[in-house]
Amino acid sequence: MSEPTPKADILVIDDTPENLNLLSTLLIEHGYKVRSVTKGSTGIRGAQVMPPDLILLDVNMPQMSGYEVCQHLKADDRTRDIPIIFISALEAVSDKVKAFQAGGVDYITKPFQIEEVLARIETHLTLRRLQNQLRFQNEQLQQEIRDREHAEEKFATIFQQSPNPIAIVTIPEGQLMEVNPSFLSMSGYTRDQVIGNSITQLHLGHDSETFLHRLQTIETLHNLEFELLTHSGSVKSILVSFDRIELNGATYALLIANDITERKRLENEFISLVSHELRTPLTSMMGSLDLLSSGQLGSLTEQGQQVLNIGVKNAERLIRLINDILDLERIRSGKITMNQQSCNLADLMTQATEEMQAMADRSEIQLITEPLSISLAADPDRIVQTLTNLLSNAIKFSPAQTTVNVRAYSSEQTSSVCISVCDQGRGIPSHQLQTIFERFQQVDASDARQKGGTGLGLAICRNIIEQHGGRIWVESTVNQGSTFYVELPLDAE
Ligand code: ADP
Repeated sequence: MSEPTPKADILVIDDTPENLNLLSTLLIEHGYKVRSVTKGSTGIRGAQVMPPDLILLDVNMPQMSGYEVCQHLKADDRTRDIPIIFISALEAVSDKVKAFQAGGVDYITKPFQIEEVLARIETHLTLRRLQNQLRFQNEQLQQEIRDREHAEEKFATIFQQSPNPIAIVTIPEGQLMEVNPSFLSMSGYTRDQVIGNSITQLHLGHDSETFLHRLQTIETLHNLEFELLTHSGSVKSILVSFDRIELNGATYALLIANDITERKRLENEFISLVSHELRTPLTSMMGSLDLLSSGQLGSLTEQGQQVLNIGVKNAERLIRLINDILDLERIRSGKITMNQQSCNLADLMTQATEEMQAMADRSEIQLITEPLSISLAADPDRIVQTLTNLLSNAIKFSPAQTTVNVRAYSSEQTSSVCISVCDQGRGIPSHQLQTIFERFQQVDASDARQKGGTGLGLAICRNIIEQHGGRIWVESTVNQGSTFYVELPLDAE
C-alpha cells in the first residue's frame, strides 16, 4: 500500500535534540512530513533549497537566535512567505513582541500541549493556503485586466485610425453615440455637433428618413449607396454597411462607410462620354438600316428582311439605353431642371394610364386608375415619365389576368400627396428593395434581355422625384406583388 500524502512539510529548528525528537515524532504521528535541524544556519539553507510549508522555530539557540534566523528568512524572497511559529520557554511579553517584530506569525510557550501546537499549525497552514489562493486569483485578475486594457487599446486605435468612417448609432432613435475622426472629416461636422443628435436631425441625406427606417427594420445591410449631405451642404456618394452590435447590454447599429464620391464622378464622366461617343455612329447605323428597309436600294428576300428587323430591334434597344443613360446623367448633374408648374395630379395619372393602356391590353392586364384631383407644383412631363415607368414595370413583371392599381391620397399633416402603383406580380426580394433604384440594378440578370429593360428606369424616377423634393420607395412580397410609392410635397398655402 502506498504511503498517504503528508498534510504538509514542516521544518523544525531546535538546538535541544530531545525537544526536536518529541516534536518530530508527534507531528509525524499526526500525518505531517517533518525535517528537523539543530542549527539555525542549517535550517535557513534547508528552507532556501526546499521551502517548507511552515517552520517551528526555537527562540533560544547558541550560535544564532531564533529571532535572527527569522530575520534572515524574511529577508530572502525564497523564504519570505513561509509562516514561522516560535516555540520558547520565555514567557515575557517583550519576547513575544520581539518574535512578532522579527516576522513570526505565532508564539507558543513551553511546555506545550500538543493539541495546541497542532491547532496553531493547522490555523496557519490554512491561512497560508488561503493567502496563496488569494494571491493567485489576484494575479489572474490583474492579468485579465491587463489583457482587457490591451484589447480595448487595440480596438480603440483601430476605431480612431480607421480610414473608413465609422459611427455607432442607437436603435430605434438613430442617435449618433460615437464616431471616428474619418467620419468627422467626411461629414464636415465637429464631434460636439454630431454626438447625441440623430441622423434625421442632422439631415445627413435627402433620404435619411428612409435610411433610419431601414436601420430600425433590417438587421444587417451591405454596401448601400447613400448620398450624404455634408455640413457645408455638398453631396458625397458613400457606400454604407451596417450591422447590429451589443454594447453594455444594449443593441446599437455599427455603421461603416466608404467615400466613393471621386469614383462616382469618374464613372459618371466615363458613362456620359461613352454614351455621347456611341450616339453618333448609332444614328448613322439607324439611318442605314432605315434606308435598307425602305426598299430604295432594292427589295430584300424574306430572310433578309427578318435579319434586318433583328438589327433594327437591337439598334433601337441600344438607342433607348443610351438615351436613358444620358437622361439620367443630365438630371443627376442638374443640367435638366424640373420645369415646375401648377398642374392637376388627376390629369397626370390619366395621361400616364392612357399611354400604358395598349401595353396592358397586350399583356392582358387590367389597369385601374382612381385619379385624385389635387393641384401640385411639378414638372408634368417628368411626373408622367415616372408614372409610365412604374406602370411599365408593373405590367412587365406581372402575369396575365392580374390587376395593376394606381391610386393617390393626400395628407394635410405632412402636406404631401402619395401616389401608389400596386401590382400582383412576381414581387421583389427584401434585400433588393433599395438597390433596384440604383443604376443597372435588376433583380434578375436576365431582366434586361427578356423584358427589354435597361435597369435605369427606377434610377431616373428616383432622380426626378428627388429633384421635386419627394421620395420614392417600394414595398413588396415575393410572388404576391409590389407597391411603388411616390410622395410629392404639396404647395404650402
Ligand atoms: P428595367 O428597365 O430593368 O425595368 P428599372 O430600373 O425600371 O429597370 O427596374 C429595375 C429592376 O427592378 C427590374 O429589372 C426588375 O428586376 C425590378 N422591378 C421593377 N419594378 C418591378 C415590379 N413592379 N415587380 C417586380 N420587379 C420589379
